Amino acid sequence: MWGILLLRAQTLTNFYAQLHAITASGVPCIYARYARHALLVHVQICTHKFAAVWARSSIFPVNEYPYGGMYMFRIGQGYDVHRLTEGRALVLGGVNIPFTHGLEGHSDADVLCHAVMDAMLGAVGLGDIGQHFSDTTAEYKDISSLILLARVAELVESYYFTVENIDATIIAQAPKLAAYRTDMEVNISEHARAFAVNVKFTTEEGLGFTGAGKGIAAQAVCLLKRRDIL
Ligand SMILES: [Zn+2]
Repeated sequence: MWGILLLRAQTLTNFYAQLHAITASGVPCIYARYARHALLVHVQICTHKFAAVWARSSIFPVNEYPYGGMYMFRIGQGYDVHRLTEGRALVLGGVNIPFTHGLEGHSDADVLCHAVMDAMLGAVGLGDIGQHFSDTTAEYKDISSLILLARVAELVESYYFTVENIDATIIAQAPKLAAYRTDMEVNISEHARAFAVNVKFTTEEGLGFTGAGKGIAAQAVCLLKRRDIL
């Protein structure tokens, strides 16, 4: 069976180093191609011998050959929690919400956007937001998570995916959030470049840390649709 791999090559030198590592492992490679940003390289490769290479390299499997049977969709999920504290603004889905408490965090601590970003990154296979936006980096101090969401969207598109839809849930005992639903959905849709966004709200009926008002959690799933790459 033949498959297509993406090499996360930042430079041509790095690309050739990775390609050499693959072929030196005895895995036949019959086709390689740079993508437009020189960040990605498509390599058609025999997947029978893929597992051993996968274990010791940064090779990322995308789809299976032939194209007629390749997977057009990818799904990812995200989950995030932030602690509620006094003296911080409460920002959810890019919307400033009047409340006695806000969420603690290095950025604006927008727990909804963070869950969405993790879902998008997960769908592509790019890890989590902590790997891309360190919470010790000064650049991200108090930054709007919508900006980070837009960067994740660019990343998703650079891997030849578009966001088909996002479905997310905020778990909070208080405040009531339904009035802000549309604004959140529009913000996320615009910045994630998502065709459809749905945001839901629930409580945990007074149970657990969200029920006690100690924090707010969010969950999200995201479906990506693959664009034609060749
Ligand atoms: Zn977070």
